[in-house]
Amino acid sequence: MEAEIDRLVDRVINGEIQFHELDQLMNGNLSTLVRRLALERLTGTTLASIGSTIIDYEEIKNRNAENVIGAVQVPVGVAGPLRISGRWARGDFYVPLSTTEGALIASVNRGAKALSLSGGVKVRILEDRMTRAPLFRLSSVEEVEEFLQWIHANEERIREEANSTTSFGKLKDLETFVLGNNVWLRIGMESGDAMGMNMVTLASEKVCQLIEEMYPSAKCVAVSGNMCSDKKQSAVNSLLGRGKTVVAEALVKEEVLRTVLRTDAESINDVNLRKNFLGSARAGSTQFNAHFANVIAALFLATGQDMAQVVESSMGYTWTEVRGKDLYISVTLPSLEVGTVGGGTGLPTQREVLSIIGVQGGGNPPGSNAKKLAEVTAAAVLAGELNLLAALSTRELGRAHRKLGRNSK
Ligand code: NAP
Repeated sequence: MEAEIDRLVDRVINGEIQFHELDQLMNGNLSTLVRRLALERLTGTTLASIGSTIIDYEEIKNRNAENVIGAVQVPVGVAGPLRISGRWARGDFYVPLSTTEGALIASVNRGAKALSLSGGVKVRILEDRMTRAPLFRLSSVEEVEEFLQWIHANEERIREEANSTTSFGKLKDLETFVLGNNVWLRIGMESGDAMGMNMVTLASEKVCQLIEEMYPSAKCVAVSGNMCSDKKQSAVNSLLGRGKTVVAEALVKEEVLRTVLRTDAESINDVNLRKNFLGSARAGSTQFNAHFANVIAALFLATGQDMAQVVESSMGYTWTEVRGKDLYISVTLPSLEVGTVGGGTGLPTQREVLSIIGVQGGGNPPGSNAKKLAEVTAAAVLAGELNLLAALSTRELGRAHRKLGRNSK
């Protein structure tokens, strides 16, 4: 066997076999080994740590990654318990976070403690649909006008076509946008427990075929015309929503502010207004928050979400008000894209992480697990915001990072 592996490694190094061709010749675990050994020799490296993993590459072949050589590992920790009162997530939750940024989990943990001692976080999902926006080219504005009327008149037929491609997806809305002779059809579908990007793309392809058959002068330029908008900053996601639009809020008691966070409502409110609103406006940023991306990225990594969707999922607003001596604080996430089936959610460690939150796999009823995960995510984002604003108001931020991010006393 060893001689056979050596022979294959030689053939890869000589260019007789491409990395990706190995998967057609042998079992996924063996092709992973041959690629890694070849790469070690090509780059003069030792990749023993990358090779040390529990992933069965036969299972992820043709599903999660190509040209695989092993896996990288990132620590996962937990914050909490965090008390949540949502429609789907109710009770005390441990929040798994995967990160290499020292102090992040501790930060969410302290925020979670303050929120839970204050009675917990209320969360609501206000909108829920994944979007894809095919782009059609027409010849003139008269045609554009007619095409828009045709779309409107044929909404039911388009809905049937989209829904025929999936047993879980349901078309919710169709929005049209125009630029000259170009028309975007922003298709929004509920996607059950899936984040929904493959699901809505497959449905959109069928819708494009139908439209080109029934309305031949509309040419589909691309099934994704960037008005979706996937993995890019955009106003459209912020205004119309994408994935789940979620608001989480809490009233943090004066005593908790003083004893747990060593600050007060006025100080946090002042930092929030001047930093998150004034500072972001002055910087020309559209992100009016302190660090949504930190918590979103760590939770996405731990739970097997599509990491590139941190871009739009971490958009949003932190709003505070002083109420007596207590602090009202909320986070609004217009475009939170999460799922508990599909993509990386099926990998063994990610499945275990999802089970910590009680949302592994499809929910009963379908969609309930993804909604619960979205509510827990928004509540964890709130905990991160509260703690960072508190640390800034007492000038503790640098100290925490010196202690937990640099391994110094
Ligand atoms: P998916 O794995 O492609 O689709 C979900 C599948 O699970 C569907 O086949 C669905 O059935 C099935 N399913 C079983 N139980 C379900 C339940 N309870 N709720 C919903 N579906 C259930 O996942 P996806 O979320 O649509 O797509 C995620 C993947 O898309 C990620 O890997 C992401 O990286 C990738 N992605 C794709 C694009 C693209 O343009 N295609 C863009 C960005 C990211 P049905 O077949 O009946 O629907």
